[in-house]
Amino acid sequence: MTYEEWFIQQGKLHANVMKKLEDKTTDEVIEYFKFENMVKNEPDFCPLYKDNKKCHDMEDLNCYLCACPNFRFKMEGFEKQDGKTLFSVCNIKSRDGSQYVGEDYIHQNCSGCIVPHRAKYIKKNFNRNWFEVMKDVRS
Ligand code: SF4
Repeated sequence: MTYEEWFIQQGKLHANVMKKLEDKTTDEVIEYFKFENMVKNEPDFCPLYKDNKKCHDMEDLNCYLCACPNFRFKMEGFEKQDGKTLFSVCNIKSRDGSQYVGEDYIHQNCSGCIVPHRAKYIKKNFNRNWFEVMKDVRS
């Protein structure tokens, strides 16, 4: 699946969940998106749910901002780095981010970063429209 395909699919999945939560407060919505609740009630939201597996080993993992508003991708690539095409980056250069470096490509690696999975961060950046929160992700 390409970044673009994933992006559209994730936005639609998020919107479907949000339809059920129209009458809920911000805090209630964020609460609903806790990993433990999502695994139980929204099994299609993430492929890891069927194995009850978290994308990040952390307590209080929240799935509301999956992926991350700081992620940037460009289907054709941003630039070349050491002869490899750079397809994605972290806009805030999180110290917990890294890179997947392949033979001719580089992708942002967020596996060590929990920035968008904390309820406090989600509340600060809250928007009911996932595509609006993620509006800068597609470069
Ligand atoms: S490294 Fe962290 S802050 Fe940066 S894009 Fe990835 S998850 Fe977001």
